[in-house]
Formats: sequence, structure tokens, C-alpha cells
Amino acid sequence: MGTVILVGAGPGDPGLLTLKGRQALENADVVVYDRLVSRQILSLIPAAAQRIDVGKQAGNHPVPQEEINRILLEQAQAGKNVVRLKGGDPFLFGRGGEELELLVQENIPFQVIPGITSALAAPAYGGIPVTHRDFCSSVHIITGHAKAGAPLNIPFDALRRTGGTLVFLMGVSALPRICTGLLDAGMDPDTPAAMVERGTQPGQRKVCSTLDRLPEAAAQAQIQSPAVIIVGQVCQLSEKFDWFSALPLKGVPVIVTRPADRSSRLCQELTRLGADVYSYPCIRTQPRIPCPELETAIQNLSAYRWLVFTSPAGPACLFRQLNAQGLDARALAHMQLAAIGPKTAAELERFGLRADLVPTVYDSQHLAQAMEQVTGPVLICRASQASPALPQMLSQRGIPFADIACYDTLYESPDGAQVLPLLTQPVLVTFTSASTVRGFVQSLPPETDLSQVLGCCIGAQTAQEAQRYGIAVKIAKQATIASLIESIKECMISWN
Ligand code: SAH
Repeated sequence: MGTVILVGAGPGDPGLLTLKGRQALENADVVVYDRLVSRQILSLIPAAAQRIDVGKQAGNHPVPQEEINRILLEQAQAGKNVVRLKGGDPFLFGRGGEELELLVQENIPFQVIPGITSALAAPAYGGIPVTHRDFCSSVHIITGHAKAGAPLNIPFDALRRTGGTLVFLMGVSALPRICTGLLDAGMDPDTPAAMVERGTQPGQRKVCSTLDRLPEAAAQAQIQSPAVIIVGQVCQLSEKFDWFSALPLKGVPVIVTRPADRSSRLCQELTRLGADVYSYPCIRTQPRIPCPELETAIQNLSAYRWLVFTSPAGPACLFRQLNAQGLDARALAHMQLAAIGPKTAAELERFGLRADLVPTVYDSQHLAQAMEQVTGPVLICRASQASPALPQMLSQRGIPFADIACYDTLYESPDGAQVLPLLTQPVLVTFTSASTVRGFVQSLPPETDLSQVLGCCIGAQTAQEAQRYGIAVKIAKQATIASLIESIKECMISWN
């Protein structure tokens, strides 16, 4: 017998998924999800898990509730770990209760993992604290949903008398009726009121007004569902506390092309800065196993004086092979170590080794320059398609070396359809190597217009590759992720 875990996915910002919710997702065999669950959270679903989209549109229910209940039951009876993923909190206007009824009846074990509700998070990202001692002592969450044609069943008079903050969900189409209802109940027309659309998401928009003018302001801004309506004195704080729209990359689309396993920090940091991040891995590195050239080089290790790594993927490849030959780090004791940059040096540290040389600029040209004075022989462990700068310099200077391809850079061929619509407007694409540029271009149909793309490149060689395809570039000052992020922030200053 499987289980069903009802998980609140939060309002959209992937960072607002709870740790427990994330663990449940990672262990799921089947994920049944709604329309309100954000793309970034869906991307956390394991590739092997089955996804069932039961997204509902208002007034148009593609998958009826009974059918959803039945899917949950059948999957659990088939022994699956089922996650029922819902926007916000599953029990707050989420029909979570209805979905559990059948499970209880059939004795299916279940758990509930609460989520951060949009009723609190959308105001928070709009700079509105739902309570504040100066203004109110309660907050009320109300549904503004009414069956088509039916009157709203909201106790407006009672709500007014509470003096508390009112938060309406599902209220976009009923907005004029909600405001009129409150005014008719005697609420002050000047009461501050606001709407937050797509709260916590990169495309979040906010309208601030007063109770009597909110419907007009919302219509003018064409506010659409999902949005929350907030009525109360606390709304007057929303300008002062407006932190989210002030983020440097708020709403900016950024496509991240680096390998999936290495992209998460970049994606997280960009998301934290407000960007609309599309993770679009275009390459991955794959160690060569077996690697006869490396095996031979290791048999002759005593002949080498320098060992060079040109990416963080190198050290693990070398150590895998050392281990296969019954050796460990002590076999490297007589050699000096060079790393192309701090991430590669950090990777060496994981193996208990300290790099003796890291160039001041983290690219192969500068690595070659930094190594001009060494006496060989030099052993280079790197990718099969790599920059010729270092071997060229070593040949010119007559320094003996072996250039071993320990891993291959493979193109991932992601589905270009995911990003094509983004390329019709200004969009940032991060490139962390020349191969990510090639992988990106190859994933798109020939003749794709790249004139709106600004390639944010980690270094000069990567930028050169992007320019070959007519992509405008911005180059990070240093070849590090932190510096790449800085350069993206700078782009925004000139962009806006
Ligand atoms: N269980 C959900 C609410 C489901 S009802 C929760 O706890 O958030 C659907 C309503 O939630 C929408 O009509 C809208 O009013 C609100 N909503 C959901 N996500 C939202 C978001 N990101 N921004 C603003 N409102 C949102």
C-alpha cells in the first residue's frame, strides 16, 4: 500500500517550499499537481516520477474533483508514494479536506505538509504586513469566489466591525462586488486597499489604492487571477516596505545554460535577486571510463613536475583513475599543482590538496601565461575539446607535456521550445564556457533570431564564441560565478 502526502507548494517562489515538502517531492513516485504550482517547483520533481497535471481553470474544470480523488486512491492502491502538490497551503481554500475523504474511507495512509499561503506571502512580497499593532489586531482570510450568477455569501458588516485586515482570495472577478459590499456595510471609502498579482513570483505586480477606487485601478492595470485583495490600514505601509520590486533583477528573464548539477547556486542567487530564472542545461561533463591515456600517464607519474586542471571536473577524474590503480594522493607528492580558478582549486581541496598556482585571471590564456616559467614535464588533465592556449605555449617554449582528455563535454540538447518564446524580447542568457554557447545555439532551430539575447559570459573566450553567433555580450570581470552575477546586475542598470 502506498501513501498520499498532501503538500503545500507555497505561492510560487521556489524558496518558499518547505524542507519537508521538498523531501516528500524527492521521494515521490507520482506527483499530482495543480495549475498554481510554479515551474521552478515542478522542476524539483525527480525525472523518474510520473507527473499528473490536474490543473483547474476557474469555471472550467479539466479534471473534476471526484476524478482527482480517484487518481489519488488508485495510485496509492498501486503501492505508489503519491504527492498531491497544491499551491499555497493545501487546507486553505485548497480542497485538501475533500481529497482526504476518500482516502480515509479506503484506509489509505496519508500525511499533510502545510505550505506558505498566498494569503500571507503575497502581501508580504508586496510590502504589506497583514497585522501591525498600530493599525489592527486581527486578519481575516475570505474567499471571493461565488458560483456564476449567485450572490457573494460574505458577511460584510461583520468583517467591517472587526477592524482587522481583510484578505480576499479568488476575488479578481468579484472585486467590484466585494468593494461595494464593504462600502455598503459602512466601511470608510478612503480605507487603503491593494492587490498583489502573481505574488512572490518574478512577474509579481501590485496595485495600491483606496477601497472605493480599487476596482478602477485594478481594471486599469488589468490585474488578473491569481491575485489577492488586501483591505485595511496596513496597506498604507506597502510603499515604504516595498522590498520585492526593488530587487536588482526583478522580473528579468535569465536563461541559465550550465550543467544541471552545477547550476543550482547560480539559479538560486539569480532568483534571490528577483530574476525569472529558466534552468536550461545545454552541456554536461562525462568522465572517460576507462581512460587508457590517463592510466599510462599515471604509470609514469614520476616523470612529471606539474599537474594542471582546467575545470572543477578534472580532479575527480584523476582520483577515480588513481584509485583504480591502487594509488592515492601520495602519488602526487612530488608535483606542483595548477588550477585554472578558485572553483577548481576548491575541488582539489576536497581531495586534501592545495593548488600551488592559480592565475590572476581565470582563463586558459592567463593560465598559460602564468606557467611560462615552469620547467616541465607538465601533465594536463582536462576536457576533450579544450582551449589550445596552454599546449600551444608549452610547445612554443619547448616544455614537455602530456595533454590528457579525461572527460568529454556532451551536449544535452534541451528542448528549444521551452525558451523560444523568451527570445522575442530582451533576455539574458548566462554562458559559463564556450561549449555552453554551442550547446545553446544547437538546441534552437537554425536561423533563430538571437538579436534580443544578451549573453552574460564568464570570460573572454566564452564571449568570443557567443559573438560568432551574433550574440551581444557582457563579460564578467573575473571568471567566477560571483563576478558573473555582478556583471548581470550591471547590465540591468543600463538596461532599465
Ligand atoms: N491554497 C492556496 C489558495 C488557493 S485558492 C493558498 O494557500 O495560497 C486560489 C487563490 O489563491 C487565487 O485565486 C488567488 O487569490 C490566490 N493565490 C494563489 N497563488 C497566488 C499568488 N502567487 N499570488 C496571489 N494570489 C495567489
